[in-house]
Amino acid sequence: MNRRQFLTGSICGAASVAVTASGASLLTSCAGAAEKKPATELRISFQEGIAPGANLGEKLDYMESMGIVGFEPWGGNLASRVGEIQQALSGRNIKVSAICAGFSGFILAEDESVKAQFDSTMRDIVAAAGELGSTGVIMVPAFNHQNPCKPHTLETRQYLCEQLHELGEYALKHNTTVILEPLNRREAHYLRQVADAAAICRDSKSAGVKCMGDFWHMQEETSDYAALMAAGKDYLQHVHIASRGRRIMPGEDGEVDNYVSGFRALKELEYPYYVSFECGTKGDRNQTVKAAVELMRAQWEQA
Ligand code: MG
Repeated sequence: MNRRQFLTGSICGAASVAVTASGASLLTSCAGAAEKKPATELRISFQEGIAPGANLGEKLDYMESMGIVGFEPWGGNLASRVGEIQQALSGRNIKVSAICAGFSGFILAEDESVKAQFDSTMRDIVAAAGELGSTGVIMVPAFNHQNPCKPHTLETRQYLCEQLHELGEYALKHNTTVILEPLNRREAHYLRQVADAAAICRDSKSAGVKCMGDFWHMQEETSDYAALMAAGKDYLQHVHIASRGRRIMPGEDGEVDNYVSGFRALKELEYPYYVSFECGTKGDRNQTVKAAVELMRAQWEQA
């Protein structure tokens, strides 16, 4: 029992003892507490490679048996998979959470043909994501290895915001969004922190431009809580999770796999979207996935 449950129990307990003396007013206050809107749910999602299973149907069966409610497919050739995914999810309590990248080129490419590849493949994925009811399509502005890249200047930031504005408006027309993912400096020095991604969302001036946090990459942050709160209800659209030492299943790295302060932020934000597994495993997947889900649920309770 946490402190809040203890206090709620104590207040209601005291009320029931005192009810004969004080009448209906105490009953009303207890009924009020019972009617409080339900606590924010932890909605767990898996990328396609997480669940054991020989094919998508078996993986979704496994996910359903564990109460996993989100599925995050890779975006490559998504348009050709819309029917397959819709059929596989039909009649299940699992929805497409987000689409993970899958486009060619990149938005900050110096080479116009590489930028054009990004524009056309990303738009195809966004349209397919909309058909699948996805919360958005995850993108990174530029990985460190992507060259030639526009220089890290004020003009480039302005250009990024303008380009994202157009992309965000396109996504809105397809009832979805684009989701900026900050990465750690070894993978993408351009965009490392959730608050910076949120500021780019704001400056892009489109409700179709959102951001996310990835607990693995959030080694860049000084506080999980502050990072997620900085993105807040306006911009936070998705979350990735992995262990915090080796990017394997949450729990496989022992005590460092603590997500409580981040989860507390999600609860305070009444975060309505998904926390999605993006990680490998060093153990037997049948055991490590189950243990990771249990760990997350226990830490969510604790938060
Ligand atoms: Mg990620």
